[in-house]
Amino acid sequence: MKLLSVAAVLFLALSSFARAQEVRSPDGAIAVLLRLETGSLTYEIRRSGEPFLEPSPLGLETSIGSFARDLIAAAVTTAQVDERYTLPQGKVRDVHYRANELTARFTNPTGDELAVIVRVSDRDVALAYRLSSPTKTRVVVERERTGFQFPKSTTAFITQQAPAGTGWMGTKPSYEEAYLVDVPVGTPSPSGLGFTFPALFRLGGHGWALLSETGVSGNYVGSRLGDPTPEGLYPLAFPEPAENAGRGEATVSAGLPLLTPWRTITLGATLAPIVETTVATDVVQPLYDASREYRPGRATWSWLLWQDESMNEPDQRTFVDLAATLGYEYILIDALWDVNIGREKIARLVADARAKNVGVLLWYNSNGSSNDAPQTPRHCLDSAPARRREMVWLQSIGVAGLKVDFFGGDKQATMKLYEDILTDANAHGLMLNFHGATLPRGWERMYPNFMTSEAVTASENLVFSQAFADQEALNSTLFPFVRNPVAAMDYGPLVLNPTFHREPTKGNTRRTTDAFQLATAVLYQSPLQHFGLTPNNLAEQPAFVLDFLKHVPAAWDETRFVDGYPGKFAVLARRSGQRWYLAATNAEAATKDLTIIFPALAGKTVTLLHDVPDRRAATTTRTIGPDGRIALTIVPGGGALLFQPPQ
Ligand code: CA
Repeated sequence: MKLLSVAAVLFLALSSFARAQEVRSPDGAIAVLLRLETGSLTYEIRRSGEPFLEPSPLGLETSIGSFARDLIAAAVTTAQVDERYTLPQGKVRDVHYRANELTARFTNPTGDELAVIVRVSDRDVALAYRLSSPTKTRVVVERERTGFQFPKSTTAFITQQAPAGTGWMGTKPSYEEAYLVDVPVGTPSPSGLGFTFPALFRLGGHGWALLSETGVSGNYVGSRLGDPTPEGLYPLAFPEPAENAGRGEATVSAGLPLLTPWRTITLGATLAPIVETTVATDVVQPLYDASREYRPGRATWSWLLWQDESMNEPDQRTFVDLAATLGYEYILIDALWDVNIGREKIARLVADARAKNVGVLLWYNSNGSSNDAPQTPRHCLDSAPARRREMVWLQSIGVAGLKVDFFGGDKQATMKLYEDILTDANAHGLMLNFHGATLPRGWERMYPNFMTSEAVTASENLVFSQAFADQEALNSTLFPFVRNPVAAMDYGPLVLNPTFHREPTKGNTRRTTDAFQLATAVLYQSPLQHFGLTPNNLAEQPAFVLDFLKHVPAAWDETRFVDGYPGKFAVLARRSGQRWYLAATNAEAATKDLTIIFPALAGKTVTLLHDVPDRRAATTTRTIGPDGRIALTIVPGGGALLFQPPQ
């Protein structure tokens, strides 16, 4: 993770800054223009000459003055960034980040400085501010002027911000809202509170852009997009004052100098740069070293289909055995274990699971005073003394990691709580999965024991609502193109029972096929995969399905876009070692006959898992021709999986 070559050129641009400063991607296709006019800053983004962002505002309003007006150009620096790093738990293992960087410095009338840092790679633009002062040591950032102005013909795939304190036990915002699909820019959010990162935009015929944010630590708030103007200007917005039950500031308090989070725009002619981007980790750095190796893996999870009634020792031991049978690395024991099983029995269960090579992940409620979610254990992680006492115990009994639920919002206080939990957990060798939680913004790299987060309408909603179960295929064609590209996503896929219930005659009906379900184990990326499998699947599923379940990886060396359109169908490929897995789903009402081209499989013999009329999966062996052309037929709510058999 070293900067291999940084060539910096400094030149003065005092009087000439009225003309735009331009920085281009290494391949020259993407251009960002920064302009200072009558003391205010704007930027715009073009790709191959086409406007992706029209002139959009920049700047900050702070306790030490405005950095949005009366700015005076000071100096401009350029640099080349060329960095290699590894992401042992990501969608790509070895990353090579190359970008051109422009740092433009401005002073305000009191002599304090705003630097705008723009990095442009061949697929991403990343923008951050650095505030500094010759005399002052701290700042309150009251709001940002940052905005994103899309061309008029753009459409959006976007999910609303929920009103704080609403929803079950006042737990919203929990970043679990439905998407607006392909709506014109300027469409307001149903809540009137704007939208959550990331957001995907289709720029008519000339491409796609994904907006997101990364590098948010305890030093800032998590931002969102405010409601747009009718013309398609999306302003950056800070948290609602009502988040965290009204407790804590909705602004930022920080020492100077202050580097803000990066706002990222990933863009291209197709969805490939969006599916394959690593910008969320490219522009951040680890904040500490891992205290041990945190192993990705698959987990059994009784709670999804067997719910709270399964929070007893016999049922949990059944799921330990299910994990051991499948060769899975973990079991997730969800809420209420402390009361229904008890700490002594949990300690024995953890030891017995470890003897079967199954690590235990335990659920916690972090909510403190932020909402009314009652599940226990509570009050163990939201204060430092309790948290450290708890983690000493967890380490002593050999727990592998935690699922922590019900966070209060995106205020700086909550960002600090995430950071404190992660930092303390690393000291005790524990890895983290956050639920009822915000989008993780660069955390895979910033905090090496961070594994995954929910921040999506996850599989629990299949159990809660038939209407959501009816949308399962639709979501499978949205999440891979919007939510999952910027961070691991703990959706909790893979249900092979006919209903989302312990008993096959009860609960919501599954509308998707077995091949669809199996495909989502590859389509959805999370280094901890909590599968909705139950013990009856072992007897009911054919050997080739069980074989796939045993071998499917949870971490990837490479990820590629193959085909798809958000809301219609999705085809992605992921590589583990020498083996490619290609997964496809169909959300449309008609059977889809797809011809895709994937040259990496040319001449290879692969296993195809595909739909058959009874909605079960069947398997065939295929040898792919030298052109890499592959024909797939996928029924509505169906799926397909192609993979190279294990050696
Ligand atoms: Ca949830």
